[in-house]
Amino acid sequence: MSENPPLIAAIEAGGTKFVCAIGTGPHDMRDVTRIPTTTPEETLAGVTRFLTMARAKHGPFAAIGIGSFGPIDLDRNSETYGYITSTPKPGWQFTNVVPMLHDRYKVPIAWDTDVNAAVLGEFLWGAGQDTDPLVYITVGTGVGGGVLVNGQLLHGLLHPEIGHLLVPPPQNSSAIQQACHCPFHKSCVEGYVSGTSLASRWGVKADALPPDHPAWEEVADVMAHALMNLTLTLCPKRIILGGGVMSQEHILPLIRGRLHKLNNHYLRVPELGRNLDDFVVAPGLGARSGLLGALALGKYELDRHAGRGADCPA
Ligand code: ADP
Ligand code: ZN
Repeated sequence: MSENPPLIAAIEAGGTKFVCAIGTGPHDMRDVTRIPTTTPEETLAGVTRFLTMARAKHGPFAAIGIGSFGPIDLDRNSETYGYITSTPKPGWQFTNVVPMLHDRYKVPIAWDTDVNAAVLGEFLWGAGQDTDPLVYITVGTGVGGGVLVNGQLLHGLLHPEIGHLLVPPPQNSSAIQQACHCPFHKSCVEGYVSGTSLASRWGVKADALPPDHPAWEEVADVMAHALMNLTLTLCPKRIILGGGVMSQEHILPLIRGRLHKLNNHYLRVPELGRNLDDFVVAPGLGARSGLLGALALGKYELDRHAGRGADCPA
């Protein structure tokens, strides 16, 4: 890092709130604000108000890093690059984010999913330091996941959409509504265990479900299927589970136990046996993984523009 690290604006664009900050790194965040996700016009006006205020107060920022809820367009050759695209979130389909901010601030802008930002934040400063491949999954209002492989955030056809991994329906469910709540799939992770799905299926808000409620066995079963499939395909060295629903202390041990059973001693690695506690872990950065990852994305984008992109993971 140079002696005077550049100021970066970071935006974690979530379905519930946008968190915006300005700073140079995890120990130097100079201003942070939270803007509710309402309509694109209102929320993005709040973002530009913050950025303009931050620029006046702290000086010009050299780049903007954004981690956004999705799906988003990451194809730099596409007409809708920098847009949120086919999101089920009402009013947000095909929302222009990056071109709008670029027109206004004329600085390099990094653009990726909120969960790819989070996995990068955890890789650099959190529970996944020097742990590659690394997976980060959030189970909150929705379910999403980001992946880092060989030092790069995983992109390809699109970006990972781990929340919609197809899983078997939970067995012996006593949920009030047994069906998967995803409008696209009959039996996917998000449709069973997002905070929204849990509230609909069990008739109680997820944070009000007591630890001995049968819902948690189901959450563990669904999540363990997702984790098993990710382990078999991506060979991650660690999987980090964040988001509100994962913040209950008893849930990670339940998931680890179920994962161990699903593996059935097939993969003979300590991570799926005696070292499970180090394989499936909570975020090291708490709720800040996405925001700090967005800041890191901004830094790398700046380096790329300056021709120093060799170590860029984004
Ligand atoms: P978001 O996904 O909107 O960024 P969160 O990760 O905080 O935000 O997720 C919010 C969801 O998590 C809500 O559905 C809420 O009911 C659920 N939630 C929050 N805290 C808990 C908790 N302690 N136990 C279970 N569910 C929780
Ligand atoms: Zn789905």
